[in-house]
Amino acid sequence: MMEPAALARDLAASGVSGVMIVWADNNGIPRARIAPVDALPAVSERGVGITSLFAVFDTHDMITFAHPGLSTPSGDVRLLPVLERLTRLAGQPALAWAPGRQVATDGSVWPYDQRGVLEAQVRRAAEAGLEVRAGWEIEFAVGVAGEDPTGVLQGAHHGPAYSSRALLDVDEFAGTLLADFAANGLPVGQLHAEYGPAQVEVSLTPSDPVTAADRQLLARQTIHAAARAHGLQVSFAPLISASGVGNGWHLHTSVWRDGRNLLAGDAERGPGPDGAGYLGGLLRDLPAVAALTAPSVPSLTRLRPGYFAGAYVFWGVENREATLRYVPGSSLLGADHANVEFKACDASANPYLALATVIAAGTAGLADGATLDEPIQSDPGTWSEQERSTRGLARLPATPADQEAALLGSDRIRAVLGDDLLGAFVAARRSDAAWAAERTPDDVVAAHLWRY
Ligand code: GLU
Ligand code: MG
Repeated sequence: MMEPAALARDLAASGVSGVMIVWADNNGIPRARIAPVDALPAVSERGVGITSLFAVFDTHDMITFAHPGLSTPSGDVRLLPVLERLTRLAGQPALAWAPGRQVATDGSVWPYDQRGVLEAQVRRAAEAGLEVRAGWEIEFAVGVAGEDPTGVLQGAHHGPAYSSRALLDVDEFAGTLLADFAANGLPVGQLHAEYGPAQVEVSLTPSDPVTAADRQLLARQTIHAAARAHGLQVSFAPLISASGVGNGWHLHTSVWRDGRNLLAGDAERGPGPDGAGYLGGLLRDLPAVAALTAPSVPSLTRLRPGYFAGAYVFWGVENREATLRYVPGSSLLGADHANVEFKACDASANPYLALATVIAAGTAGLADGATLDEPIQSDPGTWSEQERSTRGLARLPATPADQEAALLGSDRIRAVLGDDLLGAFVAARRSDAAWAAERTPDDVVAAHLWRY
């Protein structure tokens, strides 16, 4: 890697005037500071100052002081750019982008640093001889820019779902998006017009977990800028209407040992024993994991049956209603392709915390041989209540109170965050829930449209 001073000179010579340092808060909202480019050498060592209260911001920019460690306006944290990830932004050529690490003012670990939580889980997995690969699918609604930012999204394409016709309406945007993804080092699997109104999806190819989470944040910025260039604005919110199709950010993971994909298996027999342990571990902690991966109030509404979003705690082989969709390898795709798609994930998740909890739950299951029931290949949403209860099928939490109980009920998942970060995260959820309790479902959805 280049020395910061040389890097700053290079950037300045190519027209970059600022470095945007980005982190995601406990609501999945990317927050940022811009440092002038010539300050990069100093900033890369000492960071820029930010308030320690970001861990207790809620989704609506209110600060809840209802967390013992962060209950006063006093305190400062340093935000350091991760220079190895520095990327000149194709869609915002005067800026470079870097993910941020939050450290205490003496340089020591800041327990609320979400990126560090993911790094710790990656290290733990490595100590057990395991490597995880991850990639997100990103769904979003494309709207015409300029409407009331709190209002309803005015769709920029009109379907049909998955059609080439729909893509014609957003043709220039799609072209810019792909070009900017390539320039920003974001490898794309595919792009298509999704099922929902004015919905588009772009998928990122798998990488190591920290890279995957960094890329997910960079992808958001890249998509927003590409939309703006064409008079559009995109909503990454879990829902764009209270009753319609949601924006899922499905998280695909696979787990490897000695270069071998432990999820490799086939459609008939499922994954091998280690892969079954990983899936079993995810299932065991699924309600608690979902509190981190789909944390907002609209997230809870999105997780309903019939929308391919994941509503019940079960797995299936290529079953798109399954919260855990096992994707086996095949003779065409090879064993390396095998992975599990976790559907109860969206943009309101902090990507580092989401992935950290998925890794922790899955690898814990692998370590202690968690068991896996037979896959379910239908949609349990179409079964009777009686049948679901006979077969012991649980619903994922659907209210903030159930969500909190699930999160606090899993020692394994609580340990991933640690008491400080967990306390702040729960305080933010409670603040969001209290805010939403006084509003209609439509108002709640509208208030989240442009937050991510
Ligand atoms: N839009 C769906 C969701 O909310 C996902 C559709 C799909 O399977 O791609 O997760
Ligand atoms: Mg999709």
